[in-house]
Amino acid sequence: AKVWVLKKHFEGFPKTSDFDLKKIELPNLKDGGKWKLLLESVFLSVDPYMRPYSRRDMKEGDIMIGTQVARIIESKNSAFTVGAFVVARGGWRAHFISDGKDLQLLPSSWPESLPKSLALGTVGMPGLTAYFGLLEVCRMKPGETVLVNAAAGAVGSVVGQLAKIGGCKVVGCAGSDEKVAYLKKIGFDEAFNYKTVTSLDEALRKASPDGYDCFFDNVGGEFASIAVNQMKKYGRIAVCGAISQYNDSVPQKGSYVQVPMIFKELRMEGFIVTRWNNRREEGLKALLKWVMEGKVKYHEHVTEGFENMPAAFIGMLKGENLGKAIVKV
Ligand code: NDP
Repeated sequence: AKVWVLKKHFEGFPKTSDFDLKKIELPNLKDGGKWKLLLESVFLSVDPYMRPYSRRDMKEGDIMIGTQVARIIESKNSAFTVGAFVVARGGWRAHFISDGKDLQLLPSSWPESLPKSLALGTVGMPGLTAYFGLLEVCRMKPGETVLVNAAAGAVGSVVGQLAKIGGCKVVGCAGSDEKVAYLKKIGFDEAFNYKTVTSLDEALRKASPDGYDCFFDNVGGEFASIAVNQMKKYGRIAVCGAISQYNDSVPQKGSYVQVPMIFKELRMEGFIVTRWNNRREEGLKALLKWVMEGKVKYHEHVTEGFENMPAAFIGMLKGENLGKAIVKV
């Protein structure tokens, strides 16, 4: 079976030479033991967390961490029939075996018309991140103004649309004019390209002269330091990600955000989506319903071929993706 291995820990921005494509032998299911299922990856996810987590959770030579939508191709476990689709945490593997733990069957109600890859994006972990981050961390209320960065990505695009469903005004920013046009198309009230504005401060002020009640931060760093000054009193900041810092070899020494935190009595809370694992079904059901009703639109950036996993991962970190970055095997 083909697998992608972390050959060398990333230094700064990941390079294709940091990865190695290998072939490994899989045990035969007929030999018994705990391995009851043989799966083939159909869609694999490339996500920002792989960059910081590779250092924390992996050694050089380990198979890259990650999730996929996979098809069961052999089964000795009655809970999983051959042909069924699951979301698995199998890592960057084209084929793999499983004991069935940690596999999540796609709901039987999954509509034929919907790509199964959405289970890795809008109706999966990134969608849930938007859902719980907005509801539980931002605690958005109708009539409020919500700011989100990396807004045309997997999480950000759902954040903006859920905030609209929740009756908020939504401001988003992204790194290309094409992405900005997409944000306007899917209902963002204001959107701008953070790479081409002359002043981020002015662009944020123009988009919402009264400031922001909620800030869903996917980026961190300089952007967050500027945005925090434009929060309204009692505003809430959901610290979801810090993608502008993941590839730094030397930690950034940005401005310190404490002053507005005090005088505006802000609340800033970091979170990881798995905190709400016990409410996963609720979140997925709501997201699936909104997608089916057309209230949440989705876009996927699909790279073809398992051999292109590193390129897809690096491309996503560079911002080449509009919507969720996916690899189709
Ligand atoms: P995206 O689909 O948004 O892809 C990443 C995007 O980040 C790129 O497309 C790029 O868009 C943007 N980006 C890259 N570098 C920079 C930079 N230096 N400054 C600003 N933007 C940058 O990824 P996800 O939606 O999967 O993840 C978004 C964020 O959410 C990440 O920080 C991730 O770690 C976090 N996250 C957190 C979770 C949690 O549980 N806390 C769960 C899932 C994700 P652009 O063209 O706009 O620059």
